[in-house]
Amino acid sequence: MISVTIYNEFCHEKFDENVRKLYPDGIHNAIAKFLGENDDITVRTVTLDDEECGLTDDVINSTDVLIWWGHLRHGDVPDSVAERVKNAVLKGMGFIALHSAHHSKPFRLLMGTTCNLSWREDGDLERVWVTAPSHPIAQGIDTYFEIEEEETYSEPFAIPQPDELVFVGWYEGGEVFRSGCCYVRENGRVFYFQPGHETCPTFHNKSVQRVITNAVRWAAPVNRVSQLICPNVKKITTGIPGSHRR
Ligand code: ZN
Repeated sequence: MISVTIYNEFCHEKFDENVRKLYPDGIHNAIAKFLGENDDITVRTVTLDDEECGLTDDVINSTDVLIWWGHLRHGDVPDSVAERVKNAVLKGMGFIALHSAHHSKPFRLLMGTTCNLSWREDGDLERVWVTAPSHPIAQGIDTYFEIEEEETYSEPFAIPQPDELVFVGWYEGGEVFRSGCCYVRENGRVFYFQPGHETCPTFHNKSVQRVITNAVRWAAPVNRVSQLICPNVKKITTGIPGSHRR
């Protein structure tokens, strides 16, 4: 079983009627619903207003993949929580940053750059093109899929060069954007996925759901270590001719 924790700042849903109509129980529960339909995935949700954002050591230590949605209140996430998430990724936990999580503290820590981009809100159609058809995250997606309306994100996107680029988004205005970016950070896998603006029904889109589900399986820990160490080791001399010499 893959243990997924979904973090949502859960802010827009409380004051914006349009967002509440799309996600009456919050974006986190919309994601939890489709992920929870998979036999190999268990889901729990946490929000900004929970103690320590709900991301205590116990929660992090029992999370295989952490999904992050935030926008207005990135700054209210304590640095200690962001650092805890970053360290968990370095030890092997998977991390999926959705949409405006490009500016979340943990994602910026993991990237080491501003993660700035250009944006406009015109409800453009987005066509998301597969650039790596054999990648696990692209399975079940044809050459492209469409999102009827999305916020436009455009290049330049101030991220390090992705280890693997799985999707490129195109918008009616002609902008393009690296929409699906994979990274390995020490032992952990990181996926950035651009769709998911709060006033668009993006998380109800079946292709988006498929990508996020694939990403959870891809990001699940392969090698998770209990601590990050830089050990002083003894030279291995067995089996080497003349190893009796000092
Ligand atoms: Zn947005």
